[in-house]
Amino acid sequence: MTMKKKILILGSTGSIGTSTLDIIANDPASFDVKGLACASNVDLLNAQIDRFRPANVCLFDGERKEGVNLQGARLYTGIEGMKEMIRSDVDIVVNALPGSIGLEPTVEALNCGKTLALANKESLVMGGRMIRNIIAKTGAELIPVDSEHSAVYQLLKGIDHSEVRSIIITASGGPFRKHTKKALENVGLSDAMNHPTWKMGRKITLDSATLMNKGLEIIEARWLFDLEPEKLRTLVHPESIVHGIVEFSDNSLFAYMASPDMKIPIAYALYGEKRAALPFSPLNLDSVLKLTFHPPDLKRFPSIRLAYEALMAGDGALIAFNISNEVAAEAFIDGRIKFTDIPRIVAETLAEAPKEPIIDNLDKIRDIISWTRNVAMTKITGTGRRKL
Ligand code: MG
Repeated sequence: MTMKKKILILGSTGSIGTSTLDIIANDPASFDVKGLACASNVDLLNAQIDRFRPANVCLFDGERKEGVNLQGARLYTGIEGMKEMIRSDVDIVVNALPGSIGLEPTVEALNCGKTLALANKESLVMGGRMIRNIIAKTGAELIPVDSEHSAVYQLLKGIDHSEVRSIIITASGGPFRKHTKKALENVGLSDAMNHPTWKMGRKITLDSATLMNKGLEIIEARWLFDLEPEKLRTLVHPESIVHGIVEFSDNSLFAYMASPDMKIPIAYALYGEKRAALPFSPLNLDSVLKLTFHPPDLKRFPSIRLAYEALMAGDGALIAFNISNEVAAEAFIDGRIKFTDIPRIVAETLAEAPKEPIIDNLDKIRDIISWTRNVAMTKITGTGRRKL
């Protein structure tokens, strides 16, 4: 008899969180849900508590805690509550929080030596160097839960870095893949939320429409695989079947294929980098008519180019890249700016970002986060409103 793995899910009511629980529900003999944390979706949280009976529950928005039906679980609130749950008796922390709020839980989990299944790419974008240092010190394991990065991670297993010429992460191209520059100016929120291949939360869906998500993923890959920026490439692949490709020095290429279903990379992390028999989304190649690839258009979608510029400018710029995108994304969602203002605000903020080539502590990162928020906000005031 094997011991059940004790799982803590941060962001349990989001798309990664619910997919994680689907995997656990499919194999209850292997996993024990020790803790669930979410922002504010009390109704779904209550249904999850009822189904999985966790020992600990965290509602980030403490004001709504009266509505939680704990059924014997201990209640935590806020970021400190989440950190306390991370320090408790759990084997795997699934960090599926959206945006920069995920950084501190990532640091806490790795400092405690927990296995971290990381879907929060912003952690690595802003704190990649620090995170690598923590892992070197504590020996904690970080397994990526991002479809492209899980693909490349699996392809690179046991491979000597000297044999790798480049890695390629694919992009669906988002809902505006064929839009002209002019048409992009007038897209609304509901257009941006209509992703062609993946069903995800609001922030990442918008990031996919601007291709900011791919910019963030390039930076994520830089830290995850410790590869130089010139070895990181992106191809638009609208079918979302090939998630990652490794190009070797002998001109051979290995590609990873799977249906676009996050349950497959999540399960790879939960099962400790082993392949389980999963019932989800089998890929039938007989029905895949064709696979196409083309380079991204950096004129219409400058986000990827901006990510490389941030990588060249150093660690301070990486934080500024992420935070200015978050500020701009929020402003677009609120109807305060146009879609094409998002990369403009990121570019203008990056141009002023502090020239800090090496940052490896949380206090410094926090300083640059608040600096960037203020600067990015000033870029929003005075810009035109998009149609609602
Ligand atoms: Mg991805």
